[in-house]
Amino acid sequence: MASFIPLSVPNFQGNEKEYVNEAVVSEWVSTGGSKVGDFENAIAHYVGMPRAVACNSGSSGLHLAAMVAGLGKGDEVLVPTLTFIAAVNPTTRYVGAEPVFIGCDDSLCMDPAAAERFCAERCELQGERLIDKATGAHVKAIVVVHVFGNMADMPAFLALAEKYHLILIEDATEALGTHYTEGPLKGKFAGTIGDVGVYSFNGNKIITTGAGGMVVSNHPDWAEHAKHLSTQAKADELQFLHDEVGYNYRMTNLQAALGLAQIEELEGFIAHKHAMWQMYKDALDGKNGYRILDFDENGVRPNKWFYSLYLEDDRHDRDSLIAALQKEKIQTRPVWALIHEQADYPGSQAYGLEKAEEYRKRIVNLPCSTNLTREDCQRVIDLLLSL
Ligand SMILES: *Cc1c(COP(=O)(O)O)cnc(C)c1O
Repeated sequence: MASFIPLSVPNFQGNEKEYVNEAVVSEWVSTGGSKVGDFENAIAHYVGMPRAVACNSGSSGLHLAAMVAGLGKGDEVLVPTLTFIAAVNPTTRYVGAEPVFIGCDDSLCMDPAAAERFCAERCELQGERLIDKATGAHVKAIVVVHVFGNMADMPAFLALAEKYHLILIEDATEALGTHYTEGPLKGKFAGTIGDVGVYSFNGNKIITTGAGGMVVSNHPDWAEHAKHLSTQAKADELQFLHDEVGYNYRMTNLQAALGLAQIEELEGFIAHKHAMWQMYKDALDGKNGYRILDFDENGVRPNKWFYSLYLEDDRHDRDSLIAALQKEKIQTRPVWALIHEQADYPGSQAYGLEKAEEYRKRIVNLPCSTNLTREDCQRVIDLLLSL
């Protein structure tokens, strides 16, 4: 009987057991212990930032980002509609702000041209505040998601943020390791370019701590504020004085132990992601109505976290294809349902949706674990070509 091929699972072949065992033996398994700080330093060093703040998920990291950016009631935030809902809920609903949904370009990331059109046509600058003419609200921030490890068009978003006085939040939860190799942003990593950026170490991400996240910021005081909010906003540790409403968003020493081992493997994982993507691409592109979507590699080294099989015409029905793969124990999934159509966002504004609607209908994500073998990859390919 053929074995199950999962979509995206953890890969522990390095020092994971050793470092986790050190944490257990030391009995520092909760939020104290030296490994949290060590993992913060390791991530900061890897992405070239002075400081990184650990937290217990990417979602809590995004909530921290929205809070340190000062988003709240009466504010509007430009967000993508084609993404995971955790890019949107924590940066809008959790803080009382309203989303304005924007469609994607061919990178699957937010289309900067559609965002620009919204700002130019639907809004007006009043001093340094961009005001939505229809609602009177202050349009205060953009949340850009680096979808599947593709770099969003950051020069365009930086220009937009500057022109309209917008805070730029990067959801880099899928894009640890993606960075510019050429041009004005050469050497800059996804997550480190805007005002504040967030990574995730959920089990399906490129490296995992079981669950976890990290916040980085180009404003040192924002990073410190994120740390403060994530640790119950203690103003005085001994006397239990709290100077605002904080959260218990802390990462544990056990999680950080896993993370320290995983970061050692990251570049190898990315090389494997590239190799398996190429194998799918060579075997499937242009065959049987299939295309493997490209990553932007023009001046960018993407991490190629998730692979997208694009169904070019109506030869294949997306959900029947997924079911046929499932029958052979191959796990795939459609790309996300658009968020402006989800239960909690009725009547939200949404612009430039054509491509997002098309990609929503036509993308199937293929198995992409960093321990996917060439044999398993070939099994997926053979089945797809037989359908
Ligand atoms: C995974 C993910 C998140 C949330 O991260 P968690 O660690 O699972 O909370 C947020 N945004 C996007 C785009 C993601 O893929």
